[in-house]
Amino acid sequence: DLSGRVALVTGSTSGIGLAVARRLARSGATLVLNGLADAAAADALCAEFRETYGVPVRFQPCDLRKPAEIEAMMAELNEAYGALDILVNNAGIQHVSQIEAFPVEKWDDMIAVNLSASFHTIRTALPAMRARNWGRIVNMASISGLRGRAGKTGYNATKHGLIGLTKSVALETAKTAITCNAICPGWVHTPLVQKQIDALAERDGLDNAAATDRLLGLRQPSGKFVTLEQIAGLCEFFCSPDADEVRGVAWAMDGGTTAA
Ligand code: NAD
Repeated sequence: DLSGRVALVTGSTSGIGLAVARRLARSGATLVLNGLADAAAADALCAEFRETYGVPVRFQPCDLRKPAEIEAMMAELNEAYGALDILVNNAGIQHVSQIEAFPVEKWDDMIAVNLSASFHTIRTALPAMRARNWGRIVNMASISGLRGRAGKTGYNATKHGLIGLTKSVALETAKTAITCNAICPGWVHTPLVQKQIDALAERDGLDNAAATDRLLGLRQPSGKFVTLEQIAGLCEFFCSPDADEVRGVAWAMDGGTTAA
């Protein structure tokens, strides 16, 4: 039961972040949503959350590439709520390209959104969390934080970095009731992954079903997607009292990929 807890989920207008936000709201948490949505879409999403889950919800249109916007958002949230209880650093972007052709601005954006944004949210959330001596920080990494892959230099670098950040923050907070952990999903069917299926379909002249099978066959032994609900369930577990001593893990949920 997360009633009375306040949760910020970055990148919660789509995909995994939206599923995590729904799960936390269903458990009674007050929700702060974030993402690159226009005002009308954000309003509609907030209204839908209030109606479905009956919890307070607000939207923060912070562009996570911009440290000053993150600082302003965090100051506003600390002021409004005293402290965040749950911080889920979920927003992430992908770009697939060999390193020689990797656009420099895509690299910079990826470092900013997938890695630096978590540094900024955590450093600005922690003082108020420490004052209350309770907190849950969950970072959405990837099996790309545990394995390399050709074409994913930028993504791999950021996700390995995010896991390193997770471990060190967990150690810095180890004597407190604040925990910091990472989730490492394998393939989950979201817009971010559909783009990779579309690229594969175009490259190899396949239809959507065949391209999807090929993508899963690339490295998911189960041959199935991990579901949004399963990832959300793991995040909820990290927020529960049973997870009080789960600290600094990079927990794979990947249909067996990292077992190989
Ligand atoms: P998605 O594209 O569906 O959602 C990404 C979210 O991040 C959106 O809400 C988007 O608005 C937000 N976002 C992007 N750039 C932003 C910015 N500059 N500022 C604020 N918000 C921004 O992606 P997803 O598949 O749900 O991915 C969510 C997280 O899970 C990412 O960190 C991704 O790397 C990770 N992940 C996904 C998979 C997968 O198979 N889908 C696997 C492993 C890890």
